[in-house]
Amino acid sequence: MRIEEDMKLGFKDVLIRPKRSTLKSRSEVDLIRSFIFKYSNYSWSGIPIIASNMDTIGTFKMAISLSKFRILTAIHKYYSFNEWKNFINQSSKETLEHVIVSIGTSDVDFFKVQKIFSLSSALKYICIDVANGYSEHFVDFLKKIRNIFPDKIICAGNVVTGEMVEELILSGADIVKVGIGPGSVCTTRVKTGVGYPQLSAIIECSDAAHGLNGQIISDGGCVVSGDIAKAFGGGSDFVMLGGMLAGHYECSGKIIEEDSKKFMLFYGMSSDSAMKIYSGEIRGYRASEGKRVKLPFRGNVDATVRDILGGIRSSCTYVGAQKLKELTKRTTFIKVNEQENCIFNNFTY
Ligand code: 5GP
Repeated sequence: MRIEEDMKLGFKDVLIRPKRSTLKSRSEVDLIRSFIFKYSNYSWSGIPIIASNMDTIGTFKMAISLSKFRILTAIHKYYSFNEWKNFINQSSKETLEHVIVSIGTSDVDFFKVQKIFSLSSALKYICIDVANGYSEHFVDFLKKIRNIFPDKIICAGNVVTGEMVEELILSGADIVKVGIGPGSVCTTRVKTGVGYPQLSAIIECSDAAHGLNGQIISDGGCVVSGDIAKAFGGGSDFVMLGGMLAGHYECSGKIIEEDSKKFMLFYGMSSDSAMKIYSGEIRGYRASEGKRVKLPFRGNVDATVRDILGGIRSSCTYVGAQKLKELTKRTTFIKVNEQENCIFNNFTY
C-alpha cells in the first residue's frame, strides 16, 4: 500500500484569480476553438462543449438544438441502426458535424458503428466509452477501431491518470475522456471507494495528452458554468455535461406531473433504472453505481445554453482571455475554503 500525500483538487476547492484585462465586454470573447488532431485528418471548429452520451441527454433532439450553437452532442449507443438512418437522412451537414457516435466495446457495437459511418461522410467523431478505461480489452478494442477508421476523430475513456492517457493516445485515441466518479448521478466513489478529484485529473491528464499532441475531454462534475470555466482553465480541451443539460425538452427522460408542476426523470447509466431498461435485469454480479433523480422540467435547452455560454464568456473577461483557447494560459487557481454565499438560497423567487 502507498499513499500519495499531495492533496488532489475538485472544482469546489479553487477559484480563478482575476487578472488585468483590456476586454471591454463579454461580447468580445470568442468561444470557438479550432482543433487539429493527432491521427485524424479532419479539423474541427466549434464550441468545445459536449452533451453527454447518457441515454437521456445524448439524444438526436439535443444534437439538433446544440448544433445551432456549434456545440457537440455525443449520441448514446442505444439508438437502432434504423433510427440512425432516419436521423441522418433528415439532418443537415452542419448538424452531423456536431455529432459524436458513441459505442461500447461489444461485437454488436463494432459492426453497428461501421454501418452508421457508411451512411454519411459528414460524421467525424467516434467515442468509445466504458466506465473503466483501464482494461486491456478496451485498449485492444480501441486499436481495432483505429485500424478501421484511420481518418476519424476517436475519443476514448474514461480514465483519470496521465500514464493511461498516454497509453490510450499511443493506441490510437485522438482525444481521451477523463473522469471517474465526479458525475451528478454517479455513485462509483461511494460504491467502490475509487475515484479522482476532477480538477486534478484534468490538470494531470491534459499535461500528459498535450505532450503527445492529444486532447482531453473533462467528463462529469460540472454543476455551474464556473466549473466549466475551471475545467477549461485547468487545461481541458473539451468539457462534457450531463446534469447541467438534464430536465429539458430535448432530453428523453420521462415527464411526470405532481401538484401541477412538471418534473423530468434523470438517471445514471449504471443505475438500476438504466440496467433494467437495457439488460432487462440487474445482473447478479453487478451493483448499481448510479442514482435516479426527479428534476424540475426546464423547457427548451436554448436558454440554459445561453446562460452557460454567458458565464464562460464572463470568466474569460475576468482574466483577459479574448479567446477560449487563452483561458488556460491566463488561469491562476487559488485554493479556497469558501465558494458561494448561500444565505438567501431558500428565498429565491
Ligand atoms: P455530470 O455532468 O452529470 O456531472 O456527469 C456526466 C457524466 O457522468 C457522464 O458523461 C458519465 O461519464 C458519468 N455517468 C453517467 N451515469 C453514470 C453512472 O450511472 N455511474 C457513473 N459512475 N458515472 C455515470
